[in-house]
Amino acid sequence: MCDVDSGGIFLFQGSAMILPPGDSEDHFRGFGRELLEASFADARADLDIFEIPALNSPAAILAASIPVSQPLPSGWQAVPVRQVLSAVCGEKTRYSGSGLSGCILRAYHVAQWRRDSRFCGCCGGKNTDAPDEFARLCPVCGRREYPRISPAVITIIINDRDEALLAHNKKFSQGMYSLIAGFNEAGESLEDTVAREILEEVGIEVRDIRYITSQPWPFPNSLMLGFTCRHAGLSIRPDGIEIEDARWFNRDNLPPLPGYGSVSRYLIELWRKGDL
Ligand SMILES: [Zn+2]
Repeated sequence: MCDVDSGGIFLFQGSAMILPPGDSEDHFRGFGRELLEASFADARADLDIFEIPALNSPAAILAASIPVSQPLPSGWQAVPVRQVLSAVCGEKTRYSGSGLSGCILRAYHVAQWRRDSRFCGCCGGKNTDAPDEFARLCPVCGRREYPRISPAVITIIINDRDEALLAHNKKFSQGMYSLIAGFNEAGESLEDTVAREILEEVGIEVRDIRYITSQPWPFPNSLMLGFTCRHAGLSIRPDGIEIEDARWFNRDNLPPLPGYGSVSRYLIELWRKGDL
């Protein structure tokens, strides 16, 4: 992962990537640490700058975060990380962990984890960075904490007419449809999660559940596991809680879809090409 020399530091604030003045896409690869420190000199105490070991590479990723309450200097802008991901991935690529998108997602995941692991979850002591591995260490009780990764599944359901089930979640922007997704529960296999979430959210039964691909999805800390399956029985019945509407779509009448760079879009494109 991360065989890209990002060329600079990634800065995050809440769910956004923070970019210096100028063309935002120029800064998706990071910008100079000196510029960061000079621009946020007054907020130095709140600036968390950290190095993340790159995977399968001796290089490190340099990143930083600032609290959401910190005003930005004039001309700086906040771009949602999801939007950055779509822009970096472009229209033709699936997610690649070895590229810039992998660096950004790893840095963003770790930035959130550092913010949420300042204190020991066992005794409340103030965590430090462990000297011997990539972990937080409680100097009081010795507990170590590693970046938390929460598995979640996302599934494209196909019926006997080769149509795909797409659903509108209340959280989606108006008119956008995507796939059924949900978190794996303690003690549950991933295949069981697929079947349970689909039955809960759209009321249908499925068969032939098959794993396709995975993608880090640090919004805030998921690993998204992409599946496909076939419709086995019952009619669509949206739960009305998360899912407002769900329908079978053929390739000629697709609604607005999630952005490129997401596993949902990747699965939809696979079906569109007839590869599922
Ligand atoms: Zn502790």
